[in-house]
Amino acid sequence: MSANKGWAIHCHHDTLIEWCYDYRERVHAIQKKPEHEVAARLRLFKLLPAEAVLELPIALLAYNQAVETLNQAGESWGQTEQTRWHDKWCGCQDWDGTEIRFSKVNLKRGKP
Ligand SMILES: [Zn+2]
Repeated sequence: MSANKGWAIHCHHDTLIEWCYDYRERVHAIQKKPEHEVAARLRLFKLLPAEAVLELPIALLAYNQAVETLNQAGESWGQTEQTRWHDKWCGCQDWDGTEIRFSKVNLKRGKP
């Protein structure tokens, strides 16, 4: 199996270089983009070879390491603990444990 994560070029259309956590998942997402974008996105999106990564700014690499550490911290924070923390410090009914659920009720200003 080939590498599935690493530094990538043109992973998204508005970012030159970024860390790609799941190459195959991103390819799958690109295939759902507007038809006229798909071929170019697939042609341009590539995981970078180590030689190219060595020429990236050290700050970009440090940023990625910080994000990775943050993600690992999030993964070690279990759902039960997150819910307990949320209920203590926020307690809103909009958060369903993974995301805010937006209501379509009362969209007009001035309505209670
Ligand atoms: Zn909340």
